[in-house]
Amino acid sequence: MLSHGNVITVSRGELLPANTEVLDGVDDLVELSYLNAPSVLHNLQYRYNHDIIYSKAGPVLLAFNPFKDVNIYGNDFFTAYKDKILDNPQVYAVADGAYNDMMKDGENQSIIISGESGSGKTKTAKFAMQYLASVGSQNCEMKSKLIQTSCILEAFGNAKTSRNCNSSRFGKLIDIHYNAEGTISSACIQTYLLEKSRVSQLCRGERSYHVFYQICAGAPPALKDMLNLKMSSEYKFLKQSGCLKINGVEDAHNFKVLVDAFDTLGISHQDQENVFHLLAAVLWLGNISFAVIDQEEHVELVADEASRTAARLMGCKIDDLKVVLSTNRIHNTAEPLKMQQATDKRDALATFVYESLFNWLMEEVNTSLKGDEQHTRHTISILDTYGFESLQEYELEGIHWKKVEFEDNQECLDIFEKKPMGLISILNEDSNSSKATNETFTENIKRHLSYNICFSCEKGAFRVRHYAQEVQYDASEMLEQNSDKLQFDTIQLLSSCKKPLNHSASGLMNQVQTTGQSVGAKFMDHLFKLIQEMENSKQHFIRCVKPNTKKLPGIYENDIVWEQLKCSQVMEIVQITKSRYPLRFTHQEFASRFGCILSKNISCMDPLSTSVAILQQHQIPPQIYQVGFTKLFFRGQVDVLENLRQEV
Ligand code: ATP
Ligand code: MG
Repeated sequence: MLSHGNVITVSRGELLPANTEVLDGVDDLVELSYLNAPSVLHNLQYRYNHDIIYSKAGPVLLAFNPFKDVNIYGNDFFTAYKDKILDNPQVYAVADGAYNDMMKDGENQSIIISGESGSGKTKTAKFAMQYLASVGSQNCEMKSKLIQTSCILEAFGNAKTSRNCNSSRFGKLIDIHYNAEGTISSACIQTYLLEKSRVSQLCRGERSYHVFYQICAGAPPALKDMLNLKMSSEYKFLKQSGCLKINGVEDAHNFKVLVDAFDTLGISHQDQENVFHLLAAVLWLGNISFAVIDQEEHVELVADEASRTAARLMGCKIDDLKVVLSTNRIHNTAEPLKMQQATDKRDALATFVYESLFNWLMEEVNTSLKGDEQHTRHTISILDTYGFESLQEYELEGIHWKKVEFEDNQECLDIFEKKPMGLISILNEDSNSSKATNETFTENIKRHLSYNICFSCEKGAFRVRHYAQEVQYDASEMLEQNSDKLQFDTIQLLSSCKKPLNHSASGLMNQVQTTGQSVGAKFMDHLFKLIQEMENSKQHFIRCVKPNTKKLPGIYENDIVWEQLKCSQVMEIVQITKSRYPLRFTHQEFASRFGCILSKNISCMDPLSTSVAILQQHQIPPQIYQVGFTKLFFRGQVDVLENLRQEV
């Protein structure tokens, strides 16, 4: 009989054992006696229906998107988790754990947040950051700066997509640095893979970056005049998707919030004005049109309001803009362009202007977060993933309390850095060759790297085994990142424009001239370092789950949830945690950590005997540990001992 009273007949083989009702809604899936798909789903649904959105799956925190406000955040909750009045699964508890581990063990920490689009990664990252800002900050200025960065990042890097009205179109890593006392000394935000195509091309029903609609709706009249700014519906880049508004979102109000955030971060009014000029320039560039001028369908830029305003806002002469957008300079002669080529060149320019603006803003934000760098001891990093989902597919090593130490990482390093045929060199080479396509690039890396045991390749994607996990890279995206190289005449034009365009243009020239490194290769290098950095820290995992695709509260769709749990191998993780002893100490470590709570004098005892004596004296149940020759293995946390130790 089913819970709603219906009776159905099934064969015995199809039945799976259910857990007793006592176990309904347990905090950690590891506590379930029977671990099967229906019981896991039932447990999570039970909790979701009671507005308990966080659960544990062994070492991983599962965070269900409630699609509504649940009152479990804010100052009172910060204090409750900090003082251990609350210890149920929650993002604050994870952040608190990371902070305490950092203080206790002196090790860098990272909080890795993954999940589908719209599952709540960015929200969760924000909660973690707010907690860490509040627990580690006597410095109110730093705290409010850090919190205000989200608003800037989201205005410039988030957009409405079909899956999420506030979708992050870039990945970010927030590093919060602490001094020896555990106070924030400085912070740094790294961003990667901004979706640039969104500037000029939109799918139906989606929007471009929020900031465009915010400035159109919210700029005060004087600013509007200065920028010759119209309503969003007047701009081709914005109106092409048939979607200018998001239900319940006040773009005009958000513009004021953005300006406040700029002020808090100390971005000068002159710089803010430059930012607004360039935003308007991007919109006006999109409205630039071309007219056919000869039999061969060559075109010329039309000198109208759009082109004149765009040139003025960028700080260049309209004639120079006209030459760059209507011709290609080849060996000192200007070759005329056809309509598609000219439009593409215009879009590439608009995209570059936006990207330069985004990168420059990130630099400004980081300058503002610099603080007291020389006293930095340790770092907690929060990764809001985008692009490399398979970080979730970590293996046994990844969930051990202590990372398995690899003797040597040379094989993996070789994939990236080996000269002349490592990934970075191949990427550089191929992006400088006009003949390279996605296929030839993939073939090339396959041919040169397949010998490496850390490398595998299939259908345009390849996987690299870093220490504890494999990461999938999309080969086509890589070449694409490189392929939107600006032509030299465009770069030259930009170098005569206003800040920060001239800054990025000369940066581009220097990069190509001095390092010979293409943009994509630089990105790879950056991403590679980022992964290395995280692997050298203790990792805490949060898996965000979207309970339904309707973006509505109160709806729990079993199949949608199950797909996501399967993808992130939640069942396997729970199974492993249940059957293994994930927590381990050498006897030496254990004895020196907990020796202080032993009533006997231990000075003459060896570490193994000390460990055993501690366990016996405090009556730790033997089923939760095993004594090895060199190490002690635990199934769960040793909270009892930790608490006693802290009382001493
Ligand atoms: P993307 O990959 O597209 O950037 P995401 O995983 O970062 O998606 P979010 O933008 O964090 O998803 O969340 C989507 C929306 O879900 C939020 O705008 C918010 O409305 C809601 N949401 C997520 N988590 C919570 C939460 N803990 N409490 C309340 N609402 C939430
Ligand atoms: Mg996001």
